[in-house]
Amino acid sequence: VSAATPDSCLFCKIVAGDIPADVVAQNDDAVAFRDVDPQAPTHVLVVPRSHYADASALADGEPGTVAVLVSLARDVAQGDGLDDYRLVFNTGPGAGQTVFHTHLHLLGGRAMTWPPG
Ligand code: 5GP
Ligand code: ZN
Repeated sequence: VSAATPDSCLFCKIVAGDIPADVVAQNDDAVAFRDVDPQAPTHVLVVPRSHYADASALADGEPGTVAVLVSLARDVAQGDGLDDYRLVFNTGPGAGQTVFHTHLHLLGGRAMTWPPG
């Protein structure tokens, strides 16, 4: 549950402004930026400023920030005119997680199928 900033973490670098990103919203605890490889017309990643490997580690270390991610995603969805959208935490490589800094995917602007595959 460490909140240290690994030198190797891509999203820590985006949070710090060391790597550019299309930031659409931010507050004291979280930053929202558009995914570089969007899977829907709106595809935004909402990340805590602190480094946690996945959503469960964030829930243990900064439980209130989990709610901040959800609320900020809602604000971004509203800003993009979305009534309906999907929120996803991929957790672990087998579930598709490739960046090990907690990120909430906000997807919307097209029809969504279930199960996601
Ligand atoms: P995961 O697969 O870990 O759930 O999601 C990682 C997401 O980060 C992917 O959707 C991928 O497209 C996105 N991504 C990877 N590198 C970058 C980057 O440098 N900038 C941005 N904006 N998104 C990135
Ligand atoms: Zn990080």
